Amino acid sequence: MKPIIALVDCNSFFVSCERVFQPHLEGKPVIVLSSNDGCAIARSSEAKALGIQMGAPLFKIQDIIKKGHVKVISSNFSLYGDMSSRVMETLRQFSPSLEIYSIDEAFLNLSLVPEKDLFSYACLIRKIVKLWTGIPVSIGIGPTKTLAKVANHLAKKHSSGCCVLLRPDEINTALRQLSLQDIWGIGPQWSKKLSHLGLKTASDLAQTDPHKIRKIFNVVLSRTALELKGIPCLSLEEISPPKKNLISSRSFGIPVTSFEILRQAVSFHASSLAQKLRQQQSLTCALNVFIHTNRFQKGETYYSNACVIPLPFPSQDTAALIKAAISGLEKIFKNGSFYKKTGVTALQIYSAEKVPHSLFQNKEEIEKRKSLLKAFDKLNAQFGRGSVIFASEGFHKTWRPKACLKSPSFTQEWNQLPRVK
Ligand SMILES: [Mg+2]
Repeated sequence: MKPIIALVDCNSFFVSCERVFQPHLEGKPVIVLSSNDGCAIARSSEAKALGIQMGAPLFKIQDIIKKGHVKVISSNFSLYGDMSSRVMETLRQFSPSLEIYSIDEAFLNLSLVPEKDLFSYACLIRKIVKLWTGIPVSIGIGPTKTLAKVANHLAKKHSSGCCVLLRPDEINTALRQLSLQDIWGIGPQWSKKLSHLGLKTASDLAQTDPHKIRKIFNVVLSRTALELKGIPCLSLEEISPPKKNLISSRSFGIPVTSFEILRQAVSFHASSLAQKLRQQQSLTCALNVFIHTNRFQKGETYYSNACVIPLPFPSQDTAALIKAAISGLEKIFKNGSFYKKTGVTALQIYSAEKVPHSLFQNKEEIEKRKSLLKAFDKLNAQFGRGSVIFASEGFHKTWRPKACLKSPSFTQEWNQLPRVK
C-alpha cells in the first residue's frame, strides 16, 4: 500500500488559542510575547501584515503597536498545552496512527483513505477540529513526511486550507517554486552551502544524486532529497522517545539579590524537573545549577556561574533533587550581585526500568517515597499544577517572570472559567 501522510498544522497557534476565549480578537492584529514579555513569538496574519517580525523585541515595535492598535498578550503556556491536547485528541479520530510532532503540528497516516477522497477528507478534518476546539488548521497531504510539509506550505495559501500533493507533475511544479530554505529541516546555513553547488530550488535538490549529497553533507540531507523524490525515509513516530535533556529555567521579572529568593526559584526548577522525570519514567544521575546577572546592565560587573552536583543515587524524587540543587546554588551564589536568571538541568537521564536499585538503598523507603510522590502528582493533576508544592519553593514566587498581559487560565482553573452572561 502506498503511504499517504498528512501534516496538520495549527494556524498562528498561540494567537488562535487566545481567540477561542476572546472572540472579539478575531480579525484584529494580535501578538503573543515570549516568557518575561521579551519579544513577539506568535503573530496573527493581521499583525504580520503590519510588518511585525517573528522574535521582534517588544520595545522595538512599540510604534507599530500603538499605530496599528495591536493587542499584545503575555504567553499562557498552560492554556496552549491544554488546547494542543484537545486538537491532538480530535485528530486521533481520523487516523489509526498519529505522530505529535510539536505543540501545534501532527503527522497522520491516511493510507487507508482512497486517493480520490483525500481532499474532502482533509476538509472534513479541518472543519471538525475548528468545530470541536475552535482552532483553525492547515492540512497538507503527500507521499512522504517532507512532501506533506511542502503541501502544508501550499495549503496555507489556499482558501480551503488543504492541499493534496500526490501527482508527480503537481509535485514537480510545487518543488520548482519552493526555495531551499523553505524545505523542512534545511536551515539558512545548509541552503547557502547547497546554493554554492548550483542548487536553487527544492526541485534541484530532488534531482541531485542522494549519494552525492550524502558524501558532501550527511545522511540527514540525503534522506530529505529522497523524501522530496517521493521515497519515504522517515517513518511516523507514534510514541515519542523520552527526552535525554531536561531543563527548567526562567528569567526573573525583576533582578534578584537575595539568596532566599534564589533558593525558592531553584527549588521550583528542581521540583519541575522531578515531575517531568516521573512523567517520562526516567531517573537523573546529576544536576547542573546555573545563575547569571544581566550582561547588558550598564555599571554592573557581569557574573555567571554553574555547578554540577552528582546525586547519591539516580533519582526522580523531588526532595532529593531540591536538596542537590540548593547545595549547588550555595557553591555558586555570590553576595551583592543582581541576578537575572537561574535554572536547573538534569544530566545523564536513564529509563527508570534500566537502573537497578543500589545495595545501599533501603527498598522499603523507596516504595514509600514512590507512593508519596504518586499522590503528589495525582493531586496536582486533579486540582491544577502547583496545588501541592514543597515548602522550599516558597508561596509567593516574587521572582516570577513578567507576564503583565496574561489572559486568564480559561481551561485550567475553576475560578477562571469563562462566564456566559
Ligand atoms: Mg503552526
